[in-house]
Amino acid sequence: MNITGRCHCGELEFSAVVNPEKAMICHCVDCQVLSASAFRTVVVTEIDGLTFTKGEPKEYVKVAQSGNHRAQGFCGQCGTGIYACAVGSEPKIYNLRVGAIDQRHELPPRRQIWSSSALKWLPDIKNLPSFEQGPS
Ligand SMILES: [Zn+2]
Ligand SMILES: [Zn+2]
Repeated sequence: MNITGRCHCGELEFSAVVNPEKAMICHCVDCQVLSASAFRTVVVTEIDGLTFTKGEPKEYVKVAQSGNHRAQGFCGQCGTGIYACAVGSEPKIYNLRVGAIDQRHELPPRRQIWSSSALKWLPDIKNLPSFEQGPS
């Protein structure tokens, strides 16, 4: 599936070929902290399936508990997270952040990973009062 996306400030624009079967929610602690949110939703690209059509992302290299290095690509201007990938110059598979993809409504997650660290209150949010817009 061909997708397009952009960061919040518009400095970065990209297109990619993704596998919608590989859309998932990650509940790992690194995703909670790096997204500054409850969980992260990602979709996996084909090999070398990500192209920046505008701008250049910045990268932060995270070291996992396993010692594994993962580059986290984001907009240096507005901070929007765009992808994670292996470090190095070999052909890459990217985990794209679904929230920055224009077709995000068409990429429902198919599985959840790292549910052992999922926030305990997540199952309760469907019972919360809900408003169509934020407070005025
Ligand atoms: Zn930006
Ligand atoms: Zn994660």
